[in-house]
Amino acid sequence: MFRRETSEKPESRPLSSRATCTSRDAMRRREPRTTMSEADQLWMRRAIELARRGIGDVEPNPPVGCVVVRNGQAIGEGWHQRFGGPHAEVEALAQAGEQAQGATMYVTLEPCCHHGKTPPCSQAIIQAGIGRVVVALGDPFPQVAGGGLAELAAAGIETEVGVLAELARTLCRPYLKLVETGRPWIIAKWAMTLDGRLATAAGDSRWISNELSRALVHRLRGRMDAVMVGRRTAELDNPLLTARPPGPRVAVRVVVDSHVRLSPTSQLVKTVDEAPVLIVAGEDASPDACRRLTDLGCEVFRAAGNDHQTRLLALLDELGRRQMTNVLVEGGGQLLGGLFDAQAIDEAHVFIAPQLVGGERALGPLAGIGVELMRHAASLTDVHYQRLESDLYLQGQVCYQKNAKPVST
Ligand SMILES: [Zn+2]
Repeated sequence: MFRRETSEKPESRPLSSRATCTSRDAMRRREPRTTMSEADQLWMRRAIELARRGIGDVEPNPPVGCVVVRNGQAIGEGWHQRFGGPHAEVEALAQAGEQAQGATMYVTLEPCCHHGKTPPCSQAIIQAGIGRVVVALGDPFPQVAGGGLAELAAAGIETEVGVLAELARTLCRPYLKLVETGRPWIIAKWAMTLDGRLATAAGDSRWISNELSRALVHRLRGRMDAVMVGRRTAELDNPLLTARPPGPRVAVRVVVDSHVRLSPTSQLVKTVDEAPVLIVAGEDASPDACRRLTDLGCEVFRAAGNDHQTRLLALLDELGRRQMTNVLVEGGGQLLGGLFDAQAIDEAHVFIAPQLVGGERALGPLAGIGVELMRHAASLTDVHYQRLESDLYLQGQVCYQKNAKPVST
């Protein structure tokens, strides 16, 4: 599966640049180098800043930002604010008004040329008399895919693609993954003790991380389409998995529960009116068990496949069909390990607490099979470290070794 190296991220600077992804696909798919003027980069950086404001509200659309510039002055700015709302280009053009005639437009993603929830931006740009359009990234969405730029060029507008492309790609990588693979962007989150345990040998995990760390997890949940746990975690922790306080979207709470053993008295089931609950059952799960939960308002999805990994991938395909862009997986080790073995985790958010619990039966975050040799280890790229009082918070994109072999069993 295609993984991309990211090299820039303006908000927090990486402290480590040790890990780099050398996937050949990533090299091949790099945007062509262009000669960028300083002004072009400056305005595109502003457009990317604007785009970032829509994250969490616009999905499954991509976050997009736009600046219209005339004589070195921004005369219009816009960003895609919410799913179904006006596109960034239209917002920026509305601000610019008649002054847009002959101006340059900077936009983070290729303007659309199809009638979706709104009329095509390409036509609005042509009608406004824009003279030059600078785009960071082409849109792989099948109904656009170069068509937007072709329409602009055919109307005599000067176009340029690739300005700060890597930065724009980082910004909308969950959208790009959904369009390119049909699967959502998978974010793994775990909190562990300094000796690498998710819980004590007896299964107690409250609390490993501190309040600041847990507040950050709630903010993450608030912009997810789904929050996922395994059945054992649902049973041991009896979590709500909701965002408190609420974020811009309400995540579907997904429980991977092959034999449908989730208790009808669990907090998840009891709060099904607050946020949907989706149970992921195996093909041979008992219809009675399924009915007991559907009667209470949960939904059951039967994932096809004879083994854990195949069923997990079938689940990701299903979530993609539902247009889910971002999915947070909160454990336990079996679920995270299964996804890791399938090279399906895209991003990791890890909280490390200075506590020690010991015990060989106390589980680590990635159970499953694992890789055989250190040179097969996946690495995090674009890593950001943050201290949250006593906890260390680490996040980054997961980059797999293409020919990594699982340990032989
Ligand atoms: Zn558009």
